[in-house]
Amino acid sequence: MRKTLNEIANWLSQDPVNFGETIVTGVSIDTRTISKGDLFVPFRGELVNGHKFVEQAFEKGAGASLWLKDEPNPPSDRPIIFVESAELALQQMARAYRQQHNAKFIGVTGSNGKTSSKDILASMLTPYYKVQKTMGNFNNELGLPLTILSLDEDTEIAVLEMGMSGFGEIDFLSNLAKPHYAVITNIGEAHMQDLGSREGIAKAKFEIVNGLGVDGVLVYDGDEPLLQELVANGPKSVQYLSFGFQDNHALTAYDLSTVDQGSSFNVRGLINGDFFIPVLGQHQVKNTLNAMLIANALGLTEDQIRKGLQQVSLTNMRMQLVNAKNNILFINDAYNAAPTSMRAAIEFVQSTTIRNDKWLVLGDMLELGENEQQFHEQIANVIDQSKITKVCLFGPRMNWLYNQLKMNFASEQLVYTENDYNVIIQYIEQYANDETLILLKGSRGMKLETILNAFI
Ligand code: ATP
Ligand code: MG
Repeated sequence: MRKTLNEIANWLSQDPVNFGETIVTGVSIDTRTISKGDLFVPFRGELVNGHKFVEQAFEKGAGASLWLKDEPNPPSDRPIIFVESAELALQQMARAYRQQHNAKFIGVTGSNGKTSSKDILASMLTPYYKVQKTMGNFNNELGLPLTILSLDEDTEIAVLEMGMSGFGEIDFLSNLAKPHYAVITNIGEAHMQDLGSREGIAKAKFEIVNGLGVDGVLVYDGDEPLLQELVANGPKSVQYLSFGFQDNHALTAYDLSTVDQGSSFNVRGLINGDFFIPVLGQHQVKNTLNAMLIANALGLTEDQIRKGLQQVSLTNMRMQLVNAKNNILFINDAYNAAPTSMRAAIEFVQSTTIRNDKWLVLGDMLELGENEQQFHEQIANVIDQSKITKVCLFGPRMNWLYNQLKMNFASEQLVYTENDYNVIIQYIEQYANDETLILLKGSRGMKLETILNAFI
């Protein structure tokens, strides 16, 4: 961006300031990553007071800084705007910048697959538009405004991830980003703790329609009855497009198969024909369907979509194939886990023919609320003992699954440890070989990639 400090003061409903003609070219909340010309936003937390870093920010090239009104000793010879709250100021600036930005905005929410869908859509559109997307997981009330403020002025498509842990949050984010297109990837069980039920989760995600304009489009997982119900009663101004594996969606996928380190599939509906993505897992086909619907709505041809999909690559740790020491093949999906994604990953391993000796290394699923025991136990119903040779379980909650699996698996096929990675590492060293495929899957907090790192 390129704004004068006085333009920004105006965004923040403040009077013109000293050094008001200073040019601001970005916004930063961290002096470690600040760029020349940035406006520094000091946050005052319990442990750290960002005002201590304002001088450093200027030394590193910041063009200007905000300063909280009740913070003593502001520098007198620097371009500064005084504000009541850093968080509110950030959001206010993002709202103002969004309003004058000409890009098409796409908001992506859902229980699982937000980052994957965002990455697939952004890679697919990149050959045709100037695209920017949320970096990593910057998807909350601070990450989203920072992402918006990082958009170049000539960006044509902004793909924004929106996360939440309770009611009202997606409403807030969607009203800030005012997307032209919105996506709900799926409804799972994450955040059950705060939202009470899957119905609650679906409702909270559906808040994304609140920020859509009059001719906004919602693309949603049509295989999910809870979303169908919300759509049936949703605002009539919105155009609803469903995707999934069942019949009669705006886009239905069928005849899925795993080939050459990717998935091929057919679609019918608004787009017809066969497609390929260089990414593993049936759930990633679903994420591709939502991206294809958006691309179609933006006006891309079938051929452009097919070519765009060849560019797709996902951020690390999402169903990533890693050929490790001793030719053991890992599927690294250790980035995160909830029951839906755990089931999807296990089903993929069971159905693939890449290798015959198939292992699961599973870690605790966190933040599941009062039914967490049940959720862990139910994973046993998905594990097909005729297809899986060994299961290694890591974490206190996995003990519940361990007790279920003991009924079907022989003791030498099972390993359980509450917190010692080495138990699993040594077991893999002893029994895995060039026929072995190992799925690594657990919540972020379980850091199962530690096990993979022992083999690369
Ligand atoms: P977070 O809430 O952590 O930001 P996210 O919604 O961005 O998660 P991803 O990072 O894309 O989701 O994927 C998280 C996990 O969910 C991965 O392990 C992935 O394999 C799985 N997953 C991705 N898409 C789906 C889907 N459509 N259905 C079920 N599981 C999925
Ligand atoms: Mg994410």
